[in-house]
Amino acid sequence: MEVDTLCQLCESRPARQECDRCGTAVCRLHYDGEMGFCADCAAKAKPDDRRGDTFRL
Ligand SMILES: [Zn+2]
Ligand SMILES: [Zn+2]
Repeated sequence: MEVDTLCQLCESRPARQECDRCGTAVCRLHYDGEMGFCADCAAKAKPDDRRGDTFRL
């Protein structure tokens, strides 16, 4: 039986994307479509951004 994979970051939404960098399954809110990374990796890849404000949509 297939079970919806939950986003590894918020664990409350079904994961629809997979990070190209670490392979983490993430929901749309935690996926950076431009980079193809999860929010975690996207934040690390953009150190110039303001710290603590990584979930700008
Ligand atoms: Zn999420
Ligand atoms: Zn990642």
